[in-house]
Parts: sequence; structure tokens; C-alpha cells
Amino acid sequence: MTHDSAASLTELRDRLGVIADLTQASALMSWDQRTYLPPKGNAGRSRAIATIGRLRHDRMTDPSLADVLASLEAADLEGDDAALVRETRRDVDLAARLPRELVGRAAEQFSLAETSWAAARAHDDFASFAPVLRENLVIVREIAQAHAAGGDLYDALHDLYERDSTAAAVEAVFTPLRAELVELVGEIRERGRSIDVSPLLGAFDEGRQERFNLGVARAFGYDLDGGRLDRTTHPFASGIGRGDVRITTRYKGDDLRGALFPTLHEAGHGIYEQNLPAEHAGTPLGRHASLGVHESQSRLWENLVGRSLPFWEWAYPRLQETFPDRLGAVDLEAFHAAMNVVEPSLIRVEADEVTYHLHVMIRFELERALLEGSLDVDDLPGAWNERYEAYLGITPPDDRRGCLQDVHWAGGMIGYFPTYSLGTLLSAQLWEALRRDLGDVDDAMRRGEFGGILSWLIEHVHRHGRRYTPAELTRRATGAELSAEPYLRYAREKYGTIYGL
Ligand code: ZN
Repeated sequence: MTHDSAASLTELRDRLGVIADLTQASALMSWDQRTYLPPKGNAGRSRAIATIGRLRHDRMTDPSLADVLASLEAADLEGDDAALVRETRRDVDLAARLPRELVGRAAEQFSLAETSWAAARAHDDFASFAPVLRENLVIVREIAQAHAAGGDLYDALHDLYERDSTAAAVEAVFTPLRAELVELVGEIRERGRSIDVSPLLGAFDEGRQERFNLGVARAFGYDLDGGRLDRTTHPFASGIGRGDVRITTRYKGDDLRGALFPTLHEAGHGIYEQNLPAEHAGTPLGRHASLGVHESQSRLWENLVGRSLPFWEWAYPRLQETFPDRLGAVDLEAFHAAMNVVEPSLIRVEADEVTYHLHVMIRFELERALLEGSLDVDDLPGAWNERYEAYLGITPPDDRRGCLQDVHWAGGMIGYFPTYSLGTLLSAQLWEALRRDLGDVDDAMRRGEFGGILSWLIEHVHRHGRRYTPAELTRRATGAELSAEPYLRYAREKYGTIYGL
């Protein structure tokens, strides 16, 4: 490397470091807005987040940054340096497509919209949220048009969350997946034994739940010296900065699963963030590969580990000690079956592993219709409920448990939902590869030892940050393209056993 290239790389990292600091400020302000900010602070906070967004955009589109980047592109870089330049180019180009004014307007609108969504959800008042969502869609369309350059609007947005993926690619996965899942759900309903979920229902002390759930998250590898758990309306994880990766959950007064699985899920996201490459912190290379890859990590810990029998052989005696009155007389098998009951339900984040994808497919269809304008915002609750009836055989009794349940559209995120299913499929594919490499990990899980699993994930996923595209990362880690087959093999075997099919 020439002296000039070395100096330019230093300058690039310095400039990216300033941008990362602005991102950190805005992430912390958003985290606070979703957790502790008093309601009267919302308008001012939303404005401040917009200001930071504009400053960040100024830095990303600064001609001096473009000059440094161009000089590095002309140099003959290799390895991580070349990857850093390539990934910075992607971010700079994405930023350059958006006018500064739109960036600020979008940031302010979306963070205000999140607070009106939370109020609408609390009061089951879709009518109060409808005009906000309508305005969100106007801005989202502007953003999509800026990125699409005449191409498909949905694809342009989806690519922001899942690089190189398209609606057609998602449909190609969803269509056969839906057929297989509908068949499996039918088999379970017709031939499966009946499972009693009552041990999980009723009141469980929240403080004890929190201690137990956090204990499991720590055992998985979530580092509390670099993280914390708080309460929120819609559970999320936020990598605010190096050494500060926070997770949130919510408690459901009448169901033990309500906080447990979201906590394990968000801990999975947190563990990924905590193990991203430290040497690339503050640059695009130090970030996650895609939302699908992120979701593969949360779903792996939540489901492949957290809903498995070997895991509960270790964890269940601890849970029984935590709630002796409630669970002392419930045996492990009955408990494990209850934790894995398959039944159509209203809330996506509480759905079982088999019906989960149907929730995502509904949102994928609806958000495409909203974006292209073939579905009017006022008709959303009706369209939502019709699809729940058609796909899951149930009708939400209110919008709070219907189209108001998820934060994404309020936050201006259209094109995001498919990453939940893509990530879930990847989690099963990674799990197969992990077991091929490590052999049987069940015994380790029975002993409460998760370090082998974590090390494999760090080695094959976390430490690469954004060095590879999601498709490359998948190929390198698993030896194959992303496919629904590992997930379907896993689901058929697991639920065949649980339901005695
Ligand atoms: Zn997630």
C-alpha cells in the first residue's frame, strides 16, 4: 500500500468515526424515546433526531468524503481495506440519492408516528393513527422513488433491509413454504395429540420472570457489562455503540411465554451485535450483514436452542425453582410440549414456529398493496382481518391485536417484514451446518453449556460484520444458497415428535 493510500484510509476512518458518533447519538435518543421519555418530550425529541439525521446526511454526502473514497477506489487495495471502501461506497451512494430535506422530514415524521402508533395501540384507536400512516406512506414512496431510479418501489425499499433480495425472490420462497406449512398445520390439527397449555397461563411474578429470562440470556452469551434489559411497547434490540448493546421486552400478565421468548430473541440480536468485529467498530464493516442475517441469530437462540428439549432439560429445573407453586408439579415433557404448542394466534411475536411465517406473509402482501396504493389506509383493518381469517382461521377481535400490533409501518419501515422469515429459514440452515461441524450439541445444552454454539456463530457469522453480502455469508457458513428445506426438515421432525404424527 502506498503512503497516500494509508493516509487516505486514516482519513476515511476518521470521517466514518464522526458519522458513527452521530448515529450513536440518534440511536440512544430513539432508545430513550421507546423506553423512558415522558410523553411531553416526544415532539422535541423527534425534532432532535431529525436534526441529527440531517447532520449525518451532510457528512455522508460531503464532497471531501467522496474525494477520499474516489482516491481509495483508484488505489489497489486488498482484503478488509478493499471491503471497507466497497461498503462505504454503498452507504455513500444510498445517502446521496436522498435529498437532505427528505431525510430530516422522514426522521421527524417517523419518530412522531411511532408515538402516535403507541397511543393508538394502547387505546385500540386505528382511526387516530390512519392519517399518520397515510403521511408515512407518502414519505416512504418518495424514499422508494429516490432509490428505485425507475425500478420497482418495493424492491428498492426491501433492498435497504435485505441486500440483493427482491419481492420476486421472497415470493419464490414463500409460495412453496406456505403450501408446506398449511399442510403441516392441517396434519397437526387433524392427527396431532392435544396439548395442554394451562401450565403457562395465569399470573407469574414479573421480577422473577426477569431474573430467570436474563439468566438464560447470559448463559447464551449476552454480556450484561455491555448491555441491559428494559421494558417497552414493542421489543427490540439496539446496538447503540461499541460496548453498549441494549435489549427490551414486554410482560404479558397472563402468559409466561409473553416475555420469555422476546427476551431470548432480542438477546440473540444483542449477542450478534456484541460480537461484531471490534477492529471495524464505527465503520460499515463493523455492522451487521443484513436484517435477515440479524434475524437468523435471534431466531436461532429463541427457537433452535430456546424451544428445544435439551435446553429445557437444563433450564426447566431452574424455572421450577423460580415458580415452585406454579410449575413444581408439571413434568418436563408436558412443559416442553406446552411451550411448543402449534395453534393459530393473533400476535406475530408470540406465534409458534410453524404458524409464524403466515403472519409475515400477510404483512408482506399488505405492505406491497399499501405502497402501490391498491389498498387504502382506511381499508387496512378490514384487509388485515380478512387475511387472518383466510390464512390462520381466526379474526382479530380488535385492531390492537390486529393491524396495530407491529411498530414497523409506524416507523416508516416497508419492505422489512420478509427479513423475519428469511432470517428464520437461515437460522435452521445455520443450525444444520453447525451440527455438521460440531456434532451433537444436545449434551452440551443439557449441561447449560452454550459456548460451543456461540463460538461457531462468532466464527462463521458475527466476526465478519459486513465483509460479505448476505448471500456470500450464507454460502460460506453453510455451503449452500438460502433454502427453506432445512427449516422444513427441522419443523417436520420436531413437530412430528411433539404431536406424535
Ligand atoms: Zn428480531
